[in-house]
Amino acid sequence: MKILVIASAKNGQINANLANVLTAASKIHAKCDVLLIGSADLTALSNLACVGKILHLNSIVDEQNLASSVAKLVANIAKNYTHVLTAADSYGKDLLPRVAGILDLSQISEVVAVISPNIFKKPMYAGNVLAEVESFEDTKLLTVRATSFTPYTALAEEAAVEVLPNSAEINPNISHLGETIIHSETIDLSHAQIIVTGGHSLGSKENFVELIHGLAVKLDGAVGASRAAVEAGYASNDCQVGQTGKVVAPKLYLAIGISGAVQHIAGMKDSQQVIAINIDPNAQIFEYADYGLVGDLFEIVPELINQL
Ligand SMILES: Cc1cc2nc3c(=O)[nH]c(=O)nc-3n(C[C@H](O)[C@H](O)[C@H](O)COP(=O)(O)OP(=O)(O)OC[C@H]3O[C@@H](n4cnc5c(N)ncnc54)[C@H](O)[C@@H]3O)c2cc1C
Repeated sequence: MKILVIASAKNGQINANLANVLTAASKIHAKCDVLLIGSADLTALSNLACVGKILHLNSIVDEQNLASSVAKLVANIAKNYTHVLTAADSYGKDLLPRVAGILDLSQISEVVAVISPNIFKKPMYAGNVLAEVESFEDTKLLTVRATSFTPYTALAEEAAVEVLPNSAEINPNISHLGETIIHSETIDLSHAQIIVTGGHSLGSKENFVELIHGLAVKLDGAVGASRAAVEAGYASNDCQVGQTGKVVAPKLYLAIGISGAVQHIAGMKDSQQVIAINIDPNAQIFEYADYGLVGDLFEIVPELINQL
């Protein structure tokens, strides 16, 4: 078996999900090669026990590592492996389907468990069903849900590094227009240990900021939102948790004024502890909560912030 894990680096930082994907890869085989796209310091990566070799593509034609520019090059490398894994994040979801298309292979998306080298568990129907999928492809292409695997930490001797010649081709039909980096007082949702999520019932952006951001800052946590809260303009799109938002699995998830619609649950049900605050004792969110507080969030949350 030959395993390839693909990761990207941005602003000199390797995507943090790589450590989780390496754990998934190590459940298939003890060693893997890592294809790193973008410039970064390789020291920490090269010391991980499961990393056999690092293939480093550190000079990209378009400087953005656009999936459309590197897909052919990655496909050329990927076809020599039995398994190719990458995180099911926005970059992985952009890149791996392109590789699958070029190689005419099927892809298994959002793997949450490795049952055997051929059989993988993945959610379907907004997480309501966990399917075990068997692949007969010579090269199995897998995107991995990072929150389902702990980060890989075992250390060993330094892995070899092979710097790849840059033969990426810019796709003339796709160009990078720019990006906006949002600076927030609270930490990034994807890797937060504590998430405070607010729903539509907050009623306004001002209330959302005061109560949800306010509590998140006190708890050193991240801010999440239901889709209804995002659509109402109370929170930005990147805060959305759920089927069409982010999938999170923090140690503590506070659901405040959230009804518990199935599409929201799909994004948070792997959280270790859930605390729900809702005025309706029959709200569906309580079915998923370890602790439930029935009451008015406008009374409870200010009191919580005060106490903290
Ligand atoms: C294809 C599709 C994809 C979707 N994807 C997502 C997704 O990714 N994420 C997502 O979140 N939703 C998603 N939705 C929407 C989802 O179905 C729900 O509409 C949404 O989650 C509801 O958000 P909410 O709980 O904030 O609002 P509501 O359903 O309006 O619930 C508000 C809750 O607040 C409680 N409440 C009201 N006042 C107070 C108070 N003063 N104190 C305490 N509690 C109070 C109410 O009892 C209620 O339970 C999707 C829907 C579809 C069709």
